[in-house]
Amino acid sequence: MFFEIFEKLLNFIFPRRCLKCGKSLFEDGYLCDKCVEEINFITPPYCYKCGHPINELTADGKMLCASCAGKKRHFFRMMRSAFVYDNSNKNLILGFKFFDKTENATLLAAMLKIAGKDIFSQGADIIVPVPLHYSRLIKRKYNQSVILADKLSKMVGIPVDRFSLIRHKKTRPQVEFSGRQRVNNVKNAFSVKNPENIKGKRIILIDDVLTTGSTIKECASVLKKAGAKSIDVLTVARTAD
Ligand SMILES: [Zn+2]
Ligand SMILES: [Zn+2]
Repeated sequence: MFFEIFEKLLNFIFPRRCLKCGKSLFEDGYLCDKCVEEINFITPPYCYKCGHPINELTADGKMLCASCAGKKRHFFRMMRSAFVYDNSNKNLILGFKFFDKTENATLLAAMLKIAGKDIFSQGADIIVPVPLHYSRLIKRKYNQSVILADKLSKMVGIPVDRFSLIRHKKTRPQVEFSGRQRVNNVKNAFSVKNPENIKGKRIILIDDVLTTGSTIKECASVLKKAGAKSIDVLTVARTAD
């Protein structure tokens, strides 16, 4: 009862607004109906391995995209994203990343929980957020991937390890590069500080947006070298290719 009054009062002082367009919301939630509709959620059918949307199943009934079907080795066990990154949802992610809109985190973490259901059903031991270099962390005040990882951890009951994987090399933002340059930019940028915490673990790597995957791949590679049993990748969004 008291809580209800308190909540009503809060809503009166800070009316609930859609996190994407700012329109007042008259019901509980984070987004207005129009904004939900605009988001290009990745729904089945998608590749069981890399999570890429696919049009139809292969002839043998396997849920694999052409690229995964032709590949024997992957650096990850499974990869999933909640939606395709585009102009309709850019501000949700960028606001969270650069403009202190950390209230977006609960919504985005809830999306991660849904998108990662295949991963959770396979089982995982720890969640590892993609780290920032400390100089960038000081500038931005927080690491968006850590906030997402913490929120998700509470929702799914898998602990977060935010100290074992570190970014020891200061790199230029990946958006400044393309293709091969991105690979080189993050080469040898990460290391594992406490390999004993990583050894034998099934790890879920968390990031906000997956673009070419160079950063994630580099992280996965050092975690594997440190003895990780498997790597799953879970991101809020991925760019269409
Ligand atoms: Zn809206
Ligand atoms: Zn695939």
